[in-house]
Amino acid sequence: MWKCIRCGTEFEADEAEANVDSFGLHFMCPVCGRRNRLRSHGEEDGFLVLEQPREEN
Ligand SMILES: [Zn+2]
Repeated sequence: MWKCIRCGTEFEADEAEANVDSFGLHFMCPVCGRRNRLRSHGEEDGFLVLEQPREEN
């Protein structure tokens, strides 16, 4: 489960499209368009295992 850091919407990993660019792994919130960071845990069965880093408050 991922959670947008701006609007707080939670959604399953397959509801948002993970992407990578020069700034690193991220997904765009489908609700507000906010960029949210992701971290890779390597590959499992040929698929990247992605995790949303816990935001420090
Ligand atoms: Zn959002």
